[in-house]
Amino acid sequence: HAKATGRGHAEYFTDTLATEIAARAKLESDLREATQKRQFSLVFQPQISAQEGHIVGAEALLRWQHPEGERLPAAFIQRAEETGLIVEIGEWVVESVAATIARWARLGIEKRMAVNISPRQIDHAQFFRRLRAAMHNAQAPAALLELELSETLAMTCSDEVIAAIEALRADGATIAIDDFGTGYSNLARLRALPIDRVKLDRSLIENVATHHEARIIAQAVISLIHGLNCEAVAEGIESAAQAQVLRIIGCDVLQGYAVARPMPEDIFLAWAQTPRMPLLSRAFAG
Ligand code: C2E
Ligand code: MG
Ligand code: MG
Ligand code: MG
Repeated sequence: HAKATGRGHAEYFTDTLATEIAARAKLESDLREATQKRQFSLVFQPQISAQEGHIVGAEALLRWQHPEGERLPAAFIQRAEETGLIVEIGEWVVESVAATIARWARLGIEKRMAVNISPRQIDHAQFFRRLRAAMHNAQAPAALLELELSETLAMTCSDEVIAAIEALRADGATIAIDDFGTGYSNLARLRALPIDRVKLDRSLIENVATHHEARIIAQAVISLIHGLNCEAVAEGIESAAQAQVLRIIGCDVLQGYAVARPMPEDIFLAWAQTPRMPLLSRAFAG
């Protein structure tokens, strides 16, 4: 629209802009209300070992129970970050994750749970104190908690944050770098970070079964990750062929629709009892 020229277009442009501004304002006020009313829920997506196919953990993913229908993070996380609301929303997420870890442990399901953390949250002075309090109050073992940090966050975080992460790891929690391959990475810096797992972004996975170069790149990235003494997790596995290639090139953990979609807690627990992976069943047979 910015290229609009001539009569009528300026008016059109102004209208569009006004509509956009109104939509942003509505989103922000809806988000404030949602934060107050706790209109959120979590869904859980399993992570399986690439070699044996058994569940090793789950990623908790946020959903907004908007009065007009469920909304995905793409529709609101960025705005929540811009407005700072992510701090309060993230607190709710961390408390829910702690409670869920403890509830599952009581059911005998002691699986690591990964939670996504925004830069805005981790920069907040109270973040680590509140995280510890949430885990302590819920009586959730730290060893079952994994923080997912973005590549960019990991590259820019302060020495204080690194020290806090190290303390958390001393308690048994693990750290994963999310969406690896999408940002700017300083490999020397990555080596200096206390991390346990690196998640290859879906864009690195997409073509591994169809394009030779994509497979070569994924293989090199995985060997780099192993060289840093970390585990490699592949995100966005959608086919048996991708799973097969990743297994062959030494990937440790698989996550994606071909394993299972993110599920509400009750469905996840039923699934965990008897995992059904129609697309991958042949890959793990025998
Ligand atoms: P992410 O952490 O990289 O999470 C993976 C996203 O990929 C999820 O989208 C998941 O549903 C989707 N996904 C999983 N398997 C597949 C697949 O096989 N194919 C495709 N196409 N997609 C797949 P979702 O749940 O919409 O979340 C999007 C992003 O929002 C997350 O990306 C994460 O960065 C952010 N997010 C989610 N929950 C939270 C949260 O509690 N706090 C914060 N700060 N960010 C969150
Ligand atoms: Mg993630
Ligand atoms: Mg990711
Ligand atoms: Mg992400």
